[in-house]
Amino acid sequence: MDVFDNVKKQVNKAGTIMGLDQEEKSLVLNPKRMLNVNFPVRMDSGKIRRFNGFRIQFNDARGPTKGGIRFHPDVDMGEVKSLAFWMTIKNAVADIPYGGAKGGVEVNPKDLSSAELERLSREYIKAIHEFIGPTKDIPAPDVYTNPQIMAWMTDEFEKIKGGHLPGVITGKPIELGGSRGRGIATAQGGAYVLRKYAEENDLDPNGICVAIQGFGNAGSFMAKILYEWGYNILAVSDSKGGIIDREGLDIPDLIKHKQKTGKVHGFANSKEITNEGLLESETDILVPAALENQITEKNAGNIKADLIVELANGPTTPEADEILNKKDITVIPDVLANAGGVTVSYFEWVQNNYGYYWTEEEVLKKLEAVMVSAYKNVKKTASENDTYLRNGAFILAIDRVLEAERLRGNI
Ligand code: NAD
Repeated sequence: MDVFDNVKKQVNKAGTIMGLDQEEKSLVLNPKRMLNVNFPVRMDSGKIRRFNGFRIQFNDARGPTKGGIRFHPDVDMGEVKSLAFWMTIKNAVADIPYGGAKGGVEVNPKDLSSAELERLSREYIKAIHEFIGPTKDIPAPDVYTNPQIMAWMTDEFEKIKGGHLPGVITGKPIELGGSRGRGIATAQGGAYVLRKYAEENDLDPNGICVAIQGFGNAGSFMAKILYEWGYNILAVSDSKGGIIDREGLDIPDLIKHKQKTGKVHGFANSKEITNEGLLESETDILVPAALENQITEKNAGNIKADLIVELANGPTTPEADEILNKKDITVIPDVLANAGGVTVSYFEWVQNNYGYYWTEEEVLKKLEAVMVSAYKNVKKTASENDTYLRNGAFILAIDRVLEAERLRGNI
């Protein structure tokens, strides 16, 4: 299944409500630049292996393009294109002066040694360096990439160009110009939106159950923040499977267990569940924080949660959206709920360009303001158009992108 089919359906839904014409729809749905690279990496054995990589700059009407780099064996052009499109929408929803991009390498980084991973990261940058830069296109981490990988990539880019250019990549370690608060930003941003939603709907965290799919950067920090706020985190999962404890999982202990063993399975007092079981568990809030296409027409009817907070990109298919809407399940969509990551990436770039750095307190205060404002604008647009939040977010963002295109004389 091509994930970009989901994008087309999402744009068609919002486009019908907005009355987009063919020219506008075609501009919104066509990427500006798609790069497919194939590059060599010397493995520890001395042999050369070639890898397939991508970078797609979808739309830059509102500013330089921006989006993460994914290292995953299933990465392909359709997935990267969809992720680059969603970045365009997300940056417009958060009203950040960026367009959207995404990159990826078809690789399972778990099969590589640290030295091989470093060489792969550097070779990828050599292959795409002409196309990126602080005023052109600014990568960041995504699935299975992290601050260390961003450090190698920044270093490689600076060696090629000569001079310090920390604004080329965000999500760097703090020592190399990373922003305070970037590590937790995606989860923290989603948590701020959830807090606003809970305030508006008189939800008291105590006694509210949360199930989280994915226990990486987005999922584990979300578990930690919500645990500290008093929510009952009853189930979590990673690529090896899930665990559940109706009494609530001790998240700080679970994080230590995951660091030690590399998986959530085997955690004291918990029962094992499958990822499918986690999605359909008896919970109040469901947080998909792993990969795309997890909630589909096959399982949407079995979802018991009242609220879904999408930290992953594209976890719900357009068909599932309709089923969830009929069941009165509120979905806080990815392009809003996980915009905290790119928002603090934007703050990192601003600090790099200024050469002046903020405290974590300042970063989080600014992040909350952006997230709450984006949430209010999405909600207002959805309600004015008598539709659900995802359509509201798309209408708001497409409108902003098209206005920028119009002002540039491109439409
Ligand atoms: P990560 O690599 O840190 O973690 C990914 C997690 O997903 C791991 O725990 C992995 O075990 C788990 N996983 C993989 N396949 C799975 C499966 N089939 N079922 C259940 N779990 C599975 O990645 P991340 O940065 O946390 O990204 C997770 C999602 O959040 C992605 O969709 C990503 O695009 C999105 N996202 C991340 C950021 C960010 O700043 N890191 C920002 C916005 C959106």
